[in-house]
Formats: sequence, structure tokens, C-alpha cells
Amino acid sequence: NNKYEIIIIGGGPIGIACALEAEKKGLSYLILEKGCLVNSLYHYPTNMTFFSTSEKLELDNIPFISNNPKPVKREALEYYRRIATNNEVNIHLFEKVNSVNTINENKHIVKTPRNTYETENVIVATGFYDIPNYLGVPGEDLPKVSHYYNDPHYYATQKTIVVGASNSAVDAALEIYRKGGDVTMVVRKPEIGERVKYWVRPDIINRIEEGSIKVHFESSIKEIKESEVVIDTAEGELTLENDFVLLLTGYRPNFKFLLDMGIELSDDGRKIPKYNQETMETNVPGIFLAGVICGGVETHKWFIENSRVHAKMIMEHLRSKEKV
Ligand code: FAD
Repeated sequence: NNKYEIIIIGGGPIGIACALEAEKKGLSYLILEKGCLVNSLYHYPTNMTFFSTSEKLELDNIPFISNNPKPVKREALEYYRRIATNNEVNIHLFEKVNSVNTINENKHIVKTPRNTYETENVIVATGFYDIPNYLGVPGEDLPKVSHYYNDPHYYATQKTIVVGASNSAVDAALEIYRKGGDVTMVVRKPEIGERVKYWVRPDIINRIEEGSIKVHFESSIKEIKESEVVIDTAEGELTLENDFVLLLTGYRPNFKFLLDMGIELSDDGRKIPKYNQETMETNVPGIFLAGVICGGVETHKWFIENSRVHAKMIMEHLRSKEKV
């Protein structure tokens, strides 16, 4: 059967929330996920701790029990996996959606390398973790450079530059320092980000003040070479000896994917997709947005906590449409 009332693109927490709501409302659905279950979460750093408490990450009031004040990555994987398997959520993993063509408001053709589907409605819940914000500097494609951080052990004893001053960058800098890496942060702004988790911020500031972690504020990367990095600082250009560079300067949604579907983006630089804030329906009738994809480049505005409600909003709208 390749026909559904709803196709949900993305098997992240919010895609799964949409599936649970669709099931409740008796609407036929399929999730198409290009990677493993909750693929973005799976690729977060191994030792990552959420900034939300566990109840704020819950879907459909299913209890998320954690013994930590804030849950860690492996608990979240366990939680979302158990929800998907216990509820027999209808999901195809490792099946990427390449295109969505709208025939009319009740008919959309969704293509993957494996299959072609016909659906009345599409929910785009593709998140923002696939495309890093590239700096566009020479050497960014060297093997020693990464836009994702996983585990500190790899960097032990190595001269590592961490670019950025938000949660990802600060977590990486602290962990690598504590596993014996020689860490230098390169930060565009004059201070550590204000949104850094409140219990982590004093830790990084103290490590910087005592000189355990070096930092160049108001500085940026100019060029990355095999064993050196050139940075621009307020005092002029500096060349640092270097083994590894972590460019943790954030990620952005796949805007091309949205545009190709016909979804309009705001032209004020924020690239906010056009959608109705009550129904989550985009300017393309029958195509909806759910989760952090709604935020355009402002990826910090939406998270699990405040976007899980999108699932209910969409399904209530679809159910009321059916009754008319
Ligand atoms: P995602 O989880 O990103 O899911 C999108 C899914 O779509 C992915 O699995 C992806 O593989 C898939 N996909 C993309 N394109 C396609 C395609 N073409 N075809 C098929 N599948 C596709 N939020 C909180 O609420 N609390 C926190 O404490 C918190 N901590 C965070 C820590 C870090 C390090 C990061 C990066 C984010 C954090 N967030 C947190 C944000 C949170 O991860 C996101 O809010 C959450 O993942 C959003 O869920 P989502 O389902 O909208 O998107």
C-alpha cells in the first residue's frame, strides 16, 4: 500500500509525536526517515546532557523516567525508541525523501530512492541538524576539521581549536580539556554565549580565567592549514600550531528542500518558512511543518519542549477538515 492520508518526513521526536497523534485520530500515516530512529539525537555528542528536564521531552504524556536532573543522550534514545517500538509506529528507516510534488491540495507525490507514495497531506519534520553553517575559509575541508563533535578521547594530548561559544562548543571544549586535550577557543563575540546552560557557564568562565582553556575573543578563523591555523584577532593576525579544528558554529535547515516543495521563506534574512500559526499549514495547501524546522535560521527558538504541541495542532485541523 503506497497511499496514505499523511506522510511525515523525519523520524525525530516531533515526527514521532505526529505519528502518535495521527494514530489516535485514526488517520493512516507513514514516517519516512533518512537515517536511524531519531537520527539527529543519535548523532549528538556521546556524553551530551539535555538542557530540558525529562518531563519537558515527553511525548503524549508517556513518562520519561530519568534519575538525572537533566536526562542524557542515551536515556533519550532509550525513551524515544521504546515509544516507537511499543506503539508500533509505522516508520521506514534509512529511506530519504528526495522530492514532494503537489498535484492538488489533497494529492502529493513523495519520492524516495526505494518507492513513490501518494498522500493527502505531508508533514515536514526534518529538523536542522543536517547542514552545518560553513565558514567558507580555506582548509575547511581538511580531514582534521569537523563540524560535529562526538567524544573527547580522540583529542587527548592534541592541540585542538574549538570555534564557537554556544552550548555545543562549550561542552566540547570542557570535555576535551578534561581528557587531556590542549584546547583553544576562537570566539567571534567578546564573551561566552548567554544561552549556555546556566550550570555550565561558570565552569567554562573559570577554566578560561585560570588559563586551563585558552580563548581568543573577537576573533575568527582565516585559514586552516595542515599543522597551523591562522586567526584574525583584534590585535591582528596570529598563527597557532594545531592538530584538530572543531567548527561548532551551528546548523541550518535544508532550505532548498523546502523551496523545491514550493514553501516560501521570509526575505528578511531569517528565512522563516511561511505557515499558519494555528494549523501549521504552509503556503502550499496540504503541506504542514512540525518541530524545529519552523524557525528558519533561528534554530534556537524551537526545541522539543515547545514544538511537540505542533503534532496536536496539525491533527486537530486535519480531523476537523475531514468532518466538514
Ligand atoms: P530532528 O530531531 O532534527 O529530526 C528531524 C529528522 O528528519 C532527522 O532524524 C533527520 O534524519 C530527518 N530528515 C531530514 N531530512 C530528511 C529527508 N529528506 N527525508 C527523510 N528524513 C529526513 N531540545 C530540547 O527541547 N531540549 C534540549 O535539552 C535540547 N538539547 C539539544 C542539544 C543539542 C546538542 C542539539 C543540537 C539540540 C538540542 N535540542 C534540545 C533541540 C532538539 O534536538 C530539537 O528540538 C529536536 O531534535 C527537534 O526535533 P525534530 O523532530 O523537530 O527534529
